[in-house]
Amino acid sequence: MRSVADTKTKTSQKLRSVLGFVLKTAWKKRPALFAVYLLQLTAEVARTMLLMILPKYLIEAFVAVAGGAPFSEYRSRIVGIVAAIVCVTFFASLISSGCGHIRTALGEWFNRCLSEQLADHAMAMDYEHTEDPAALDQLNKAREGADWYSGGVEGILQGLYAIVLNAAVIVGVVTIVVMGCPWLLVIQGASLLLIGWFNYRNNKIEVQSFLALAAVNRKFGYYFYQLADFRYGKDIRLYDSVDMMGEKAARENKNMFLIWKRQATETRKNSLAMDVVNTLRDGGSYFYIGFLTIKGAITLGDFSMYSSAAGTFYWGVWSIVNGVQEIVKRCSYLYEYLQFLDYPAAMEKGTEPVGEDEHVIEFRDVGFRYPRSETYVLRHVNLTIRSGEHLSIVGLNGAGKTTFIKLLCRLYDVTEGEILVDGKNIKRYSDEEYRKLFAVVFQDFRLFAFSLKENVALQDSEHADLARVEEALRLSGVYDDTIKLEKGMDTMIYKSFDETGTELSGGQKQKVAISRALYKNAPVVILDEPTAALDPVAEYEIYRRFHELVGGKTALYISHRLSSCKFCDHIAVFADDTIKEYGTHAELVNKPGGIYAEMFAAQAQYYV
Ligand code: ADP
Repeated sequence: MRSVADTKTKTSQKLRSVLGFVLKTAWKKRPALFAVYLLQLTAEVARTMLLMILPKYLIEAFVAVAGGAPFSEYRSRIVGIVAAIVCVTFFASLISSGCGHIRTALGEWFNRCLSEQLADHAMAMDYEHTEDPAALDQLNKAREGADWYSGGVEGILQGLYAIVLNAAVIVGVVTIVVMGCPWLLVIQGASLLLIGWFNYRNNKIEVQSFLALAAVNRKFGYYFYQLADFRYGKDIRLYDSVDMMGEKAARENKNMFLIWKRQATETRKNSLAMDVVNTLRDGGSYFYIGFLTIKGAITLGDFSMYSSAAGTFYWGVWSIVNGVQEIVKRCSYLYEYLQFLDYPAAMEKGTEPVGEDEHVIEFRDVGFRYPRSETYVLRHVNLTIRSGEHLSIVGLNGAGKTTFIKLLCRLYDVTEGEILVDGKNIKRYSDEEYRKLFAVVFQDFRLFAFSLKENVALQDSEHADLARVEEALRLSGVYDDTIKLEKGMDTMIYKSFDETGTELSGGQKQKVAISRALYKNAPVVILDEPTAALDPVAEYEIYRRFHELVGGKTALYISHRLSSCKFCDHIAVFADDTIKEYGTHAELVNKPGGIYAEMFAAQAQYYV
């Protein structure tokens, strides 16, 4: 497995991966982009070369006329050159800006594609990664690296384009200069080497800051964006925690500032050295060409052409050096995106399909501790759940009930022992197939800012069967509330995207979540404290109609209200990291010294 901490991957490998990815993506999705680049390249090379050469002939004509030659002899040449300069400038600019607009629009489109792919991948990655700080930092680096840090696909292509454009211009310039002023190339070349070196050092410092900023930015983003979400508003206000949040945010702000400050201090020395080299280069070049002109080795027109060529050569090579460094930097940023797409899976993937028949679930000596934790949460758990069985899971908070469900749904893999479904280790099944077995309502379920219908049908929402959605809402007891909503099944949950959206009560939300599980029609229904937010009447209704709700399906039911256990075939009591008691209500309720008996007796006094 690749080490996540391996940030020192070779630059050449990063370049190969990113350039390969970018070129393939662009070629596959928008091949016309390459034609746009070619057109722009032709226009810009033609403009640069002609604007360097044509003024030489113009100046030579002026000098001749100033020296006494008849104007009529030079008139058509002067007019022709001026017209050529105007036309070249106009048409090249027109083509260049047209191509620029197309590229900007396509660049945005590519960025959206990358973001979409990133979001898809983040949602599909192993659940375990959603609480792994290394994976979350990688996601953050990918998000920032793919967008404005690297410029995305277009940003990299634009960098490549700049290199190709300048290489073409330099070939032309060198051909011209080498004949008349070869030393000019030496002066420019030497200064370029020095500038390139100082610039390389600056880029290295910037990349280091970027990597250091990823973790700080994630925390900073949490304070400023997530906590500003109105859903956190009640707790923040009522627990008077604005100052506490503010202090935490200020601390991250300060860390961020320190990183930027260090970057500015370290880059300043290199920037100063670059200024000195630039000054020496310009002075040296003019001295050399001026000397040749005074000596009569070159004409005044040549002086103009070579001065312009020196500048073009310098900026051309500089742009290439800079472009290569820029592209290395951008590729390092975008590489973080590819790293995230390639993030090592936390769990081995099976391929086998799940059979159609009845399903038997078996926990065989299962032990589990959470990733990055030394403490076992569950140990020696042995349990068989027959098809169609209704099992109630009880135990104090923190006893491992929800963890048991997460293991069954394979959100995590067991640390010890194995879980079998139909006699096969669940690791052998394909994730997609295996998850079809379960319809789960977790305690911390989430409704989404989509329509009511979409919230119930979810994976099937494009072709949601309205009658089944309504039936599921009816079964969970929330249908009567929802038909009163202005837009019925199309009412948006929350007001995030629609001001007519609704804010359901806790109990209503829980019922919608139960409806979602019922709509899925999976063979195993799992409800983790399904009645926690319900009022006593609704709670009673759910218990009373529990068999009707889940039908003949296997059902697992975590509950703190032990009166609900009477409705189940078996009860598993979790305590001391394992299943301490197992049996029917009748068997356990009178067991002397039993945990269940004690818990039941304690609660019964409120129900009698
Ligand atoms: P229950 O559902 O019975 O209340 P849980 O299964 O949620 O208990 O938790 C069992 C134990 O595992 C608790 O001590 C809890 O702190 C710990 N735990 C739960 N989730 C995580 C997690 N994601 N990472 C580390 N420990 C966890």
